[in-house]
Amino acid sequence: MLSPTRKLLKSPHSSSQSQQSQEVSTVNSDILPISSLSRFSPRNWKIKAKCTFKSNPKEFQNKRTGNSGTVASVDLIDNSGEIRITMYTEQVETFFPIFEVGKVYTVSHGNIRPANKHFCKSEYEAILTSDSKVVKCSDEDVIQTQSRTFLENLDRLNSDRLVSAMIDIIGVVHTIDDLTHLPTRNDSSKTIAKKTITLIDDSNTSIAVNIWGPKATTRSFHVGDVVECVNAVLTEKGADRNISISESSEIIVAISAETGIDQNSPSQATQREIELFEWYKNKPAHLEIKRIEGKAQALGPRKETVAKTVKEITTTEYEFSDQGDFVTVSAVPTLTRRSNVWYMACPNEKCKRKLPDPTSDDPSEQNLRCHNCSWVQTENSQPHYRYLLSVLLSDHTGSIWATAFDNIAPRLIGMDAASLAKIHEKNDDKENVDSILLHSVLFAPRTFTLRIKKHTVDTPTQGSIDRLNVSIVQATEQVDTAAYSNFVLGKINEIQQKLEES
Ligand SMILES: [Zn+2]
Repeated sequence: MLSPTRKLLKSPHSSSQSQQSQEVSTVNSDILPISSLSRFSPRNWKIKAKCTFKSNPKEFQNKRTGNSGTVASVDLIDNSGEIRITMYTEQVETFFPIFEVGKVYTVSHGNIRPANKHFCKSEYEAILTSDSKVVKCSDEDVIQTQSRTFLENLDRLNSDRLVSAMIDIIGVVHTIDDLTHLPTRNDSSKTIAKKTITLIDDSNTSIAVNIWGPKATTRSFHVGDVVECVNAVLTEKGADRNISISESSEIIVAISAETGIDQNSPSQATQREIELFEWYKNKPAHLEIKRIEGKAQALGPRKETVAKTVKEITTTEYEFSDQGDFVTVSAVPTLTRRSNVWYMACPNEKCKRKLPDPTSDDPSEQNLRCHNCSWVQTENSQPHYRYLLSVLLSDHTGSIWATAFDNIAPRLIGMDAASLAKIHEKNDDKENVDSILLHSVLFAPRTFTLRIKKHTVDTPTQGSIDRLNVSIVQATEQVDTAAYSNFVLGKINEIQQKLEES
């Protein structure tokens, strides 16, 4: 059984932190506590910390610049805090092999910037550069580190605030499902391994843990094992809420149900883990277990729809999740992208995938075919035309691009995508795509309901950055002027209050 090192995290004296950090700073004056690092730190900062987590290097490609490379990261912890160290391409080659989970390193020089909260728990992230130095300390050179802050119990997972957040939890393995292989989202010819286990604890709460990829096949569990989920993400899809263990997370057996507590080195397990282990062994046979469930309905907005100005959406003040949040905005479409207003999709109701362009010059190969299912174009089965209309929505605060798909675009334009495509093919001077869009969509103020999803892109220069996917899910015929006036008055009140407070 694979059981990655876990003892490294335990510190018998983590309660007297302030005293220890003083020690570090006096003994070794050039070493800074991790908690003191910020964007304003001198570029030649130096820290000494223990490596607690090592990611798998990942390939990335920047579609805009065409650059590609690898990205990898490690988590370092000292007695003051934790930091994510990220490396790109050459730095992955130079530094990544040096790091080993459980060992202590001094790391110096690099760019400090605020961490993407969605991918790590530390406040800051350091990007190593060619000037950086990573030096492994001798094995005798032990440092006191904080122990990870595990959620106190599984019942806490009911908190909406934790959805999409990265967390550490402890639980007892209660059920283990068989390993399955699911088609991947991007390429249905590939599969990804998935294993689901449920964890419970003495708050009588259970949560499903989905383990993805190689960890699903290499980690083995027994009912009664006490496990730690590290850097796990709480995800919510409709009414389902569960823990996801992917490449950037770890799941570790702290106490094995088979071997029990190691009497020779009981300090390897925390007090809490020993407690849970004993609790599970002695729990009543008929325990009423609450399951953690999402609050959302399977359909419809997860959260309340909030009215926003465009600027409030585009500035970071409003944090979006990768689950999709719903926002209404009263705005005027001021521009549409002229290319790719529609696409041809597989007519198979269960598929509806975008069809690839026919590439062959051979006329017998000119029939469209779907790469997802086995559909082939025949005289009796033609592709469906579906909209993919990009609209620039503007209000007095700014502009944002939004996409209208086939569920809403026919209503905005007043005809389905096939009819518009037909008009386009006719190549008529009077009635063309531009004039139709101009008279239907453009410059007609409406209140749009937008679904906004955050997704993160890895870039070689700026690291991982957030982008917003904005799609239009609803649109009113016109703006309700009374409601909109109320909204604007509310904004004016907010400004007045801020002025009075300051
Ligand atoms: Zn298909």
